[in-house]
Amino acid sequence: MSATAAATASHPHILVFPYPAQGHMLPLLDLTHQLALRGLTITILVTPKNLPFLSPLLSSHPSSITPLVFPFPSHPLIPPGVEHVKDVGNCKLEDPLFNWFNSQSNPPVAIISDFFLGWTQHLATRLQIPRLAFFSTRAFLVSVFDYIWNNVEKVKCLSEVEFGHLPGSPVFKQEHLPSLFKLYKRSDPDWEFVKDGLLANTKSWGYVLNSFDALEGEYVQWLKTHVAYDRVFNVGPLSLIGPDVSDRGNSGSSSDLNDQVMTWLNQCPDGSVVYVCFGSQKLLRKEQMEALASGLEKSDTRFIWVVKPGTTQQHVEGFGVVPDGFEQRNAGQGLVVKGWAPQALILNHKAVGGFLSHCGWNSVSEAIVGGVMMLAWPMEADQFVNARLLVDDMGVGVRVCEGADSVPNSDELGRVISEAMTEGGGMKTKAKDLKEKAFAAVSHGGSSMNDLVRFVKELGQLGR
Ligand code: UDP
Repeated sequence: MSATAAATASHPHILVFPYPAQGHMLPLLDLTHQLALRGLTITILVTPKNLPFLSPLLSSHPSSITPLVFPFPSHPLIPPGVEHVKDVGNCKLEDPLFNWFNSQSNPPVAIISDFFLGWTQHLATRLQIPRLAFFSTRAFLVSVFDYIWNNVEKVKCLSEVEFGHLPGSPVFKQEHLPSLFKLYKRSDPDWEFVKDGLLANTKSWGYVLNSFDALEGEYVQWLKTHVAYDRVFNVGPLSLIGPDVSDRGNSGSSSDLNDQVMTWLNQCPDGSVVYVCFGSQKLLRKEQMEALASGLEKSDTRFIWVVKPGTTQQHVEGFGVVPDGFEQRNAGQGLVVKGWAPQALILNHKAVGGFLSHCGWNSVSEAIVGGVMMLAWPMEADQFVNARLLVDDMGVGVRVCEGADSVPNSDELGRVISEAMTEGGGMKTKAKDLKEKAFAAVSHGGSSMNDLVRFVKELGQLGR
């Protein structure tokens, strides 16, 4: 283990610990970028496996961000499933980090860590420094988080859960709440530990959210009033305050691929392309791949379809396999990208008019920033709750399918894509409107910028 962070008293030193999965690392890295630009010295904890993903990204950040490579007993590039979360929850990094902290000439004055890493709250208490929980999910979920954990046995038995403590008393189907809660088994000591860690978030010194007030102000306000008082910092969309979108393309996609995609998009009419991607991890099974391929063909719409590579075994089982002949038949009409696509760049291209997505929170946020309407296919985790916001509350999307196991009807899928892309005027206008609100939030005097300034000021004062 080594750290070269040369912090000085005038540049307070912050330890940042993202959960090791892309959807958690990318937004926290965007936040870190701003903190470094505003004079804070950052040590960012990474795992050996994540370093290759993070290194190219760090090259577009200020040099006052230093990676500290810690051995980490997890599988950073696989989905954060049960065992993964357990690994993280049970992680025994507390003592090595405690020792590292005590070896620093200018030790960190605060920890900012992912909400999955609730045990860092115990570490912060031991070190007698504040810890801020970073939430890479909707403010709504943050405001029901401890309620669900504290009532998990009851919630599990309900078909619908009403959150009467929140503005508007929202009601959600139990099956649409994050599966993490459903996996919890009271008899399992590992899960008790994870639960304790996650609930420890409520004891954190502050909350950092990747949202903006025009999107979810009522829940943010609720958190400010009831949970973390004036230490809720709602600073999103974080992709707007991170490095330039063209640098984000370097996070795993080659510049050749970026050029190829941009050249292809440049010759497409404005708003004519539907971008299809299900986040950093998700692989569709054979029947889903076939239905989606067929739906895209029937929609007669230009497309970019991102397919994750998967393992050899997954391919044998048909996961992530593009149907034979599809690419040849549709050359000119579409691009299939196998691997990591420059998503933020794509969503900001004027040729892109729609985003068929699993509705991961970063994808949602990036679509809003791009002013692109959504074709929602929520599958798991927070995705149903996110889709509700987009489709039912904001009117910037339409559902095309629901559930990780569902197979869409390809005729219906083709029709919905085609109609949304050609006639979805209302949705498109609302998406442009929301984009403007997102930009306003991070502009001078905007709600997120005000929170960011307040955040940096509070962190800066810790160094005094
Ligand atoms: N992403 C990307 N290229 C890809 C797939 C994903 O750049 O080929 C990025 C995407 O822009 C987003 C993140 O990875 O920032 C995925 O996060 P999200 O919350 O949408 O989904 P998750 O992967 O966590 O399910």
